[in-house]
Amino acid sequence: MTREFLPPTGSAGIVCEPTARPHSIDADAVVVFLPEGGVNTGAAAELDAATGGMLTRLAAAGELAGRRYECVPLLAAPGLRAGQLLVVGLGKREDLTAGVVYRAAATAARHLASRPRSRVVFVADGSWTTKQVEQAVAGAAVGMVGQDLYRAEPKRTRFGTTIWTAAPVEAVDRGRLIAEGVNLARRLVNMAPDDLYPQSFADECATVAGRTGLDIEIWDEDHLVRERCNGILAVGRGSIRPPRLVILRYRGAGRTGQGQPAAADAPHLALVGKGVTFDSGGLSLKPSDGMLTMKCDMSGAAAVLAAAATIASLRLPINLVVGIGLVENMTGPAAYKLGDVIRARSGTTIEVHNTDAEGRIVLADVLDVIRGEQPHQIIDLATLTGACVVALGQDVAGLFTNDQSCCDALAAAARAVGEPVWQLPMYPDYDEQIKSEVADIKNVGDGRWGGAITAAKFLERFVGGIPWTHVDIAGPAFSEKSRPWTDGGGTGAMVRPLVELARGGE
Ligand SMILES: [Zn+2]
Repeated sequence: MTREFLPPTGSAGIVCEPTARPHSIDADAVVVFLPEGGVNTGAAAELDAATGGMLTRLAAAGELAGRRYECVPLLAAPGLRAGQLLVVGLGKREDLTAGVVYRAAATAARHLASRPRSRVVFVADGSWTTKQVEQAVAGAAVGMVGQDLYRAEPKRTRFGTTIWTAAPVEAVDRGRLIAEGVNLARRLVNMAPDDLYPQSFADECATVAGRTGLDIEIWDEDHLVRERCNGILAVGRGSIRPPRLVILRYRGAGRTGQGQPAAADAPHLALVGKGVTFDSGGLSLKPSDGMLTMKCDMSGAAAVLAAAATIASLRLPINLVVGIGLVENMTGPAAYKLGDVIRARSGTTIEVHNTDAEGRIVLADVLDVIRGEQPHQIIDLATLTGACVVALGQDVAGLFTNDQSCCDALAAAARAVGEPVWQLPMYPDYDEQIKSEVADIKNVGDGRWGGAITAAKFLERFVGGIPWTHVDIAGPAFSEKSRPWTDGGGTGAMVRPLVELARGGE
């Protein structure tokens, strides 16, 4: 039985009126951003004047401090056609980044989206960079979307129309497309695992590809057998839902050269995603508590699909290949077992010591397929290890690399849009820990220490020396609790950094 879902997040209702005066627009609400001590400058000063000095008076009374992400709704403000003026704090002006603006806009939108609004005006500040405007637009469009896929009465309602003033049209357009990517990743992560399984995820990929002009190949189990993807097949054997491998391609390198064919030296980026649509742990069964949120074990796959869709929508001048390994890790009668030895597509043999360390076995084959495309750089995203969450906490993604400049570029892109990442070491000594007595390698390290790194060391065996960065998003991909800027659930982590990286810091 198939179920009907909301269409992919529409954000068509986001428009730009660069020169409109916010106080004279007929709307439900006007959102203005306020840095600490900033009522006399920029957009806040303009609204202060329109309201006859209301902001100045409230600031003097200590009611409007501009503290970061603080929302102060001013209802029926004089001089304003809109029903309310929502002032959202940005914190100290010298600490203002694109990431702060993103979260501030998301916080304001989430606040207002708690009930239906037909028109909401956001006032960009003239002092912002184009990137800050983009990220603010993206944040507002992400913040108004909750995780309401299965609720009769949604907790968040998208605004009928979002109007941006004092913002360049192109920046608003780009921010809208970035938000579509983030919201796509969130929606996929939030889908119940009985609805999103390997084939239905592949169907989602096909829909996205059709909409954004990506080329797509979907490998079914027969194709996976022909391609010797024994790792993917082994992990998938315990489920009645067979595994899939999706390859997406985008050739944008010629686009800016008036239809010139792509130059041989054009950047060729590869993205690889772990798509375990549900992870029971297999025969190394997870306890119930640890299994509850394991629908999110496909967050890497969702992020690379969403990033590819956004890169294609933005028509970025790069070439891109994406590999997504889709399996359900279950305990059916044919499930793979401890002590099994799997010959991965590359020929490397893997002894299975724990069926819950399945993501790396799937990625071994996907990385080998993608390696054959000869990209200049590979980035893989995976909710790979609890050990990474132990090391870095729930909000920080772990980076692991065989090429420092490749890793530095990704870290810089993440910093530019305000997503925290931290690099962990890859000393050769860790390789000793994944040696097996009976096969080339085993799928866990000796004991539990350094588990995020031994997992990365396992993956490194399959990238064939191509510059590569592994991103462990086991912490940041899913938020069990709501934050001021987002409802709990899938977060869309790493979508914005990947898009930023593909833009080359432009
Ligand atoms: Zn697992």
